[in-house]
Amino acid sequence: MNASLHAKRIELVRAALRAKRLEALLVTHLPNVLYLSGFSGDSGYLLVEQERTTLFTDGRFTVQAHEESPQAKLVLQRGSLAATVGAYLARVKPVIGYSPAQLTLSTWQGLRKAGGTKVRWRPAEGIVEALRAIKSRSEIETMRAAGKLACQVMSEVIALVRPGVRELDLAAEIGYRIRRKGATGESFDAIVAAGPRSALPHARPTDRRIGKNELVVLDLGAILRRYCSDLTRTVFVGRAPARVKRWYRAVQDAHAAACDALRPGVRAEDVDRAARRVLERYKLGRYFVHSTGHGLGLEIHEAPRLGRGQGARLEAGTVVTIEPGVYIEGVGGIRIEDDAWVTPSGSELLTTLSRDLLEL
Ligand code: ZN
Ligand code: ZN
Repeated sequence: MNASLHAKRIELVRAALRAKRLEALLVTHLPNVLYLSGFSGDSGYLLVEQERTTLFTDGRFTVQAHEESPQAKLVLQRGSLAATVGAYLARVKPVIGYSPAQLTLSTWQGLRKAGGTKVRWRPAEGIVEALRAIKSRSEIETMRAAGKLACQVMSEVIALVRPGVRELDLAAEIGYRIRRKGATGESFDAIVAAGPRSALPHARPTDRRIGKNELVVLDLGAILRRYCSDLTRTVFVGRAPARVKRWYRAVQDAHAAACDALRPGVRAEDVDRAARRVLERYKLGRYFVHSTGHGLGLEIHEAPRLGRGQGARLEAGTVVTIEPGVYIEGVGGIRIEDDAWVTPSGSELLTTLSRDLLEL
């Protein structure tokens, strides 16, 4: 990994700490540890102070920590991670920022107990998340590659959709093909939902067989070089009736409106509103039961959320999904989802697979 890249990110954290009058930040969320240090083990905390960065992990990860995170001082844990970090903090006695949302209650109690009364804890949410939300050009290019891989798998798997095939079979094909194309895994368990089940936005694939004249929603994502993609297409098995075509056009139009609205300086909620207004015009607003999109990066869901009440303005470099949908109970659902990045002058889609209605 690129040590100077991590050093740069750590410096930004230090600047944020100075602005908040904190002496240190305890990073307990692993994607944040990875982002700041390069360490990809599945247990560890990172302590960022003005003078040094310390990685706490256990003996399973000694070699990995030296390789991935040479710039951080390594402290191997004795007893629990919380007890080890707490004992360290008891010596330093900092005014320390931490993220309550990213600690369990038992870890928090362990940290407090081992740290003693001299450590002054201050809730400090979102410092690393704010940095992660703005992607560099090289992160964007990785995400474009992850998106392209997802598009290839999507078009291959759509070719396998036919009556009699089980949802689970298609989900297995998705997982297999994603790995065969060089991804380390799926961003999430793929959704394959046919017929009335497609009206469930987060359906789990079942052994139900796809029937004739049904909608099928496929939602998949690949993790490539640690970055996630997220892509949904909806197809119709047979000739789509007029009402399905109309619903589909509404979702397509909502998707286009959200993409048009996406640009630097726009409020997250206004991108959501752009999609929602289109569906309302089609009298389908009440069937759009989730937000228009979410940030995407090292995690499948990260800042920002494109939903109601999200007043933050989007900056160039932000990557989000655009995924309007309609879900009609007992009948079926339609969702079209792509990944887009906010460019300095507008926005650009990272996933470019056709969005036209496919009748199979
Ligand atoms: Zn998705
Ligand atoms: Zn999504």
